[in-house]
Amino acid sequence: MKDPYSALGVSKTASAEEIKKAYRKLAKKLHPDMNPGDKKAEERFKEVSAAFEILGDPKKRSLYDEFGEISTRPGFDEQKAREFQRQARAGGFGGGDFRGFEDFAGGGFDPSDLGSMFEDLMGRRRGARRRRAPAEPIPGEDIEAPIEVDLRDAVLGAEREISVKRPVRCPECKGTGARPGSRAQTCPQCGGSGEILMGGVFSTPCPRCQGEGTIREPCPRCGGEGTISETTRLKVKIPPGVETGSRVRLPGQGGPGQRGGEPGDLYLRITVRDHPSVRVQGRDLLLDLPITPAEALAGAEVTAPTFEGPVKLKIPPGSQSGRKLRLRGRGLPALRGGAMGAPRGDLYAVLQVVLPQDSPQAREAAALLQQLYKNDVRKDVVL
Ligand SMILES: [Zn+2]
Ligand SMILES: [Zn+2]
Repeated sequence: MKDPYSALGVSKTASAEEIKKAYRKLAKKLHPDMNPGDKKAEERFKEVSAAFEILGDPKKRSLYDEFGEISTRPGFDEQKAREFQRQARAGGFGGGDFRGFEDFAGGGFDPSDLGSMFEDLMGRRRGARRRRAPAEPIPGEDIEAPIEVDLRDAVLGAEREISVKRPVRCPECKGTGARPGSRAQTCPQCGGSGEILMGGVFSTPCPRCQGEGTIREPCPRCGGEGTISETTRLKVKIPPGVETGSRVRLPGQGGPGQRGGEPGDLYLRITVRDHPSVRVQGRDLLLDLPITPAEALAGAEVTAPTFEGPVKLKIPPGSQSGRKLRLRGRGLPALRGGAMGAPRGDLYAVLQVVLPQDSPQAREAAALLQQLYKNDVRKDVVL
């Protein structure tokens, strides 16, 4: 491996800032995307990345400065190395012969040792140059619950009680995620810094400790999550004007936040049940309204039901079946929220002329009507 300092072209006394700067400049210049097919640039890019992997991390850098290349191998044990060094200096290993280092790295490496090794290592260094990422509040989870409502509820709004499975603060650990009474330990993944380097360039909050730098024995009840899933009965308000596919936001009714974060929201995903005599067409409602032949011919004022109560409706003389009469604003009410909200709809009474029950008198009356047709009633039906 090339000496990381020369790989980045910096001196051994370069500051962390200078190292970062040198790396960014080189990484940008040598990036494979910028040098397609250039093997030499690719090699250099790898070299530079590997170098920054070490020098960009204060801990790895100091170990490299102390022990050299061997410190970068998996399973390197600083304590054993130091012990060896001490004995070597004392003459125990034939004075300054560092080949014995090989015993502390490489073969027989057990990944589970790494955590405790880092913990030991960092335990003693903590406080010296602990760069802890600020523990930012974590907002609660948004959750979605499906709910079916009758068309009447969609028009008028309603209050419903629903069962929602949602995360709630763990009662065992009060949401901390740590076993009550357990002590905080340095996070083995980030070594206590609270952040890790992504591809050697970007630092992101450490996923193991979520930027805290420390971890605690996980709470046995919630497994360290800080929340448990619980099915709760919840009273929810369905606002007037929802339709199938509407999402109703109930602020603060989602999962609890952590470290002072806001709770998440609950979203109701609405499905409106079919109604036996009213169809929904966009924001409009279509109501089949039966009328008699006399009402259809002579016109009439009839009473039409709506979800808000009965209204008077004028049937113009000579109305046929299928004629639509508009009742303005009696459809789905305007729904606020969402990107644009939803406009108010209308209700259409769709006239349906119904015949009286069959009887000799009915047939007599119909025979009279029959004489009044001037043309074939089906003459315009062409397929
Ligand atoms: Zn961590
Ligand atoms: Zn818990």
